[in-house]
Amino acid sequence: MKVLTVRLEDIRDKNAEITAELPGALFPVLSEMIHSGEVIVTSPVRVEITAAHEFDHVRVSGRVEADIRLTCSRCCAEYDDKLGSTFELFYTKAQGPAPVLDEEIELSETDLVSVSYKGDEINLIPEVDEQIVMELPLRPLCSGDCRGLCTACGGDLNVAECGCHREVSSLSFGALKNLKINQ
Ligand SMILES: [Zn+2]
Ligand SMILES: [Zn+2]
Repeated sequence: MKVLTVRLEDIRDKNAEITAELPGALFPVLSEMIHSGEVIVTSPVRVEITAAHEFDHVRVSGRVEADIRLTCSRCCAEYDDKLGSTFELFYTKAQGPAPVLDEEIELSETDLVSVSYKGDEINLIPEVDEQIVMELPLRPLCSGDCRGLCTACGGDLNVAECGCHREVSSLSFGALKNLKINQ
């Protein structure tokens, strides 16, 4: 049985409910990010979905959640976080040979995404994958007021103030200063 696939014949007269706990590696883009070390997924990816046939489209409402571990972009420490996204997808049957462009409308609470499908089943993996990846921060921060690393000695300023002079906060200046002292 295929995971996260809605068969149109199953939702002809009733809604389909799908609840699944899946490995992060099942989602292509997320899997790439796991391989490149951008994120560690520390739990199964939990997906809850309701698919309903309405008029000329299939509405898929759902939620995806996972526990993740990220590396802070300021202090380089790993920290644990949770991600969760509630979404609503509208699948419309592709018409004719011309490709139907996906449209995306951002709303405050839920993302409304319109996708085209072909054939008699809908594979939800690509869109759920996108929902997860969109939730990942571009510049992860362990906390909003993370002080980062000292540009002179590399010490973690969240742990202790090292006492370095950092008026000119550039690594090359720090290195030059140390060089002069050592001579
Ligand atoms: Zn940090
Ligand atoms: Zn320092």
